[in-house]
Amino acid sequence: MFSYRHAFHAGNHADVLKHAILVQTLDYFNRKDSPYWVIDTHAGAGLYALDGDWAGQSGEVTEGLDRLLGAPQPPALVERYLRAIQDFNPDGVANVYPGSPCLALHAMRPDDRLRLFELHPTEGQVLEDTLRQRMHASRRQVAVAREDGFAGLKRLLPPPPRRGLILIDPSYENKQDYRHVLQAVKDGLQRFAQGCFVIWYPLVQRIQAHELVRSLERLPVDWLNASLTVCKPSADGLGMHGSGMFIVNPPWTLEAELRAALPWLQTTLAQDDQARFSLLTRAAGTRPDKDAAAIAQTRKPDESGRHERPPAGRAPRQKRSPSRR
Ligand code: SAM
Repeated sequence: MFSYRHAFHAGNHADVLKHAILVQTLDYFNRKDSPYWVIDTHAGAGLYALDGDWAGQSGEVTEGLDRLLGAPQPPALVERYLRAIQDFNPDGVANVYPGSPCLALHAMRPDDRLRLFELHPTEGQVLEDTLRQRMHASRRQVAVAREDGFAGLKRLLPPPPRRGLILIDPSYENKQDYRHVLQAVKDGLQRFAQGCFVIWYPLVQRIQAHELVRSLERLPVDWLNASLTVCKPSADGLGMHGSGMFIVNPPWTLEAELRAALPWLQTTLAQDDQARFSLLTRAAGTRPDKDAAAIAQTRKPDESGRHERPPAGRAPRQKRSPSRR
């Protein structure tokens, strides 16, 4: 259960999509003065060394963040994300990668609250140390619980200010995670119907992954579902060929921001000609399969001359780390 370490995957294409959407959504929360809570049910270690052994061993950052650095004309959503990464790397070289807790705290205001869950004992300790020593987080603003995030979430909802973002980002190493995610969102909506639930999911050849997304799409709430495929599914059925973010009660601005960003991300992160994106939305009271309010869009890189292969000279794909990311 404890073999997953996010350091192998920090800054990969999935982190790019997840964290770009996270910081953009928090910017939207910041438009109003009233405070909010961020609850991160699967927080990870907080900050990762990109020049360390684990990131170096997997090489995944070379197919993620590295491709964005210096790529021409990034859209606003990507620019915002890159600014945040740069703030953690003031000397201009991307040596450290901020995970969701650090990116969230960086975006939040003093009266906002961050509540984190991390079950892995070592990751939990590193997270606590990073937040206290490097981010100077107060115990009042930031609390780390080294316990099951699915169970812990229940007792925090609804958050006192009735404004909140809940990030649910398990490793899905455990197949039960797919079921737990769906249940957590359903329970969460009962306690906090107006909450913004942000769910990361992998694009993998596993029935549970498809079923999770279909089940989320059937929820009678406003949602937005953005996914990015970076390569064709592997012949052996293993590995991850992309990822998605499912957002319940999304900021109304997010769809347009993603519509502008996803084609660029597809082109920049494509590993082969199977790269594509999809953006689906549903407004409560409509049916995504029937209603014109639901918008589906996918595009392959070869459908337009503007979609070229990524620049040459990137590091080749390297050894996969122990899990699906
Ligand atoms: N959210 C992080 C980010 O974006 O930077 C990455 C999190 S990583 C994908 C998933 C983390 O969840 C791992 O560090 C793992 O140890 C932890 N974990 C696994 N099961 C958990 C559970 N039931 N409750 C809390 N944390 C868990």
